Amino acid sequence: MDFLREQLAALTEKGLYRTLRENQGPPSAAAVIDGKAVVHLASNNYLGLANHPRLKAAAREALERFGAGAGASRLISGNLSLNTRLEDKVAKVKKQESALLFSTGYMANTGVLAALMEEGDAIFSDALNHASIVDGCRMSRAQTRVYPHKDMDALEKALAKSRCRRRLIVSDGIFSMDGDIAPLPDLVNLADRYGCMLMVDDAHATGVLGARGGGTGEHFALEDRVDITVGTLGKALGGFGAFIAGAHSLREFLINRARPFIFTTALPPAVIASGIAALELLEEEPALRARLWENTAFFRQAMERLGFNLLGSETQIIPVLVGDASVAMEMGEMLFQEGVFVQGIRPPAVPQGSSRLRITIMATHEREALEFALAALEKAGKRLGII
Ligand code: PMP
Repeated sequence: MDFLREQLAALTEKGLYRTLRENQGPPSAAAVIDGKAVVHLASNNYLGLANHPRLKAAAREALERFGAGAGASRLISGNLSLNTRLEDKVAKVKKQESALLFSTGYMANTGVLAALMEEGDAIFSDALNHASIVDGCRMSRAQTRVYPHKDMDALEKALAKSRCRRRLIVSDGIFSMDGDIAPLPDLVNLADRYGCMLMVDDAHATGVLGARGGGTGEHFALEDRVDITVGTLGKALGGFGAFIAGAHSLREFLINRARPFIFTTALPPAVIASGIAALELLEEEPALRARLWENTAFFRQAMERLGFNLLGSETQIIPVLVGDASVAMEMGEMLFQEGVFVQGIRPPAVPQGSSRLRITIMATHEREALEFALAALEKAGKRLGII
């Protein structure tokens, strides 16, 4: 297996070698990583719910009552009533007829795309969509037309040319590496005009966008125009797992046809219970979301004043363009030494030449912690000639 070592050496040379760091603490805004206390700017736990007492209590109670694991897939015998309780709550938050849980967002995206679309069909996919959408497109065997990021003219041209029988447009709601928001009003209009289905991956928008945290659909008041919404429970909702939301018929179809739903063990009871608690909190504590947006606005404005290129971020995901992969990693390392944890993001997660730091803001960041991070970013940015 010499090729393994050769390929790893090649990755190292290109600055693309990846290693795992150890996070020693609870998932909070101040963390201990590889033994060092840091301001954590690299978590998708946007509302701080992963360490919320209500989620932990709900998980503990379900663990005691229902045990550690579901024991089987839902179609065999793992369909605890907790599943449908959570699905009903998801459907309500998303203002859809129904919802269906999946084990992960990765599985939801691949599962839906491969179940709905097949050879002879066409998928129109934004160039910056998440890897799980890219893989779902491949697995479906449908023709995939990738349009330049948010380029609605290019999308319309591709739609006008297509003669495929069944067509679907798919877009991230909030783009995971750029932090900008999909142009949903244009997407729904194009979907209508060309008789296409529309699928939105709201992994990063669920719990964050919209007055109730309903996501991209709520943000634009267009929930009823999105056919398929995917979301995860592992980011703003603080737990683990994922869902799709849409029409009853979509749910029924996926129960029968989505392989990642059919052939996998149901989510553990404690995980489902923490999801239910998270959705309750979303409703009861809008202040968490307000705090996230306050922190985000403060940080983004300060970064812009410092002269960083934030690639048009509009949300809690704030990319800092560096360009070269090795420099992005060097900057991440410098920041870590200063006590700030940020991940460098390199190809293949982002296009060549657009390596970046991906900063994520949380509702639970203290203002002083954000100020501390800004000072470290200024120092590192100046040292590396980025600002
Ligand atoms: N979609 C997007 C846009 C994501 O960023 C992610 C997670 N990185 C996923 C889907 C996958 O979700 P999960 O972590 O639940 O598999």
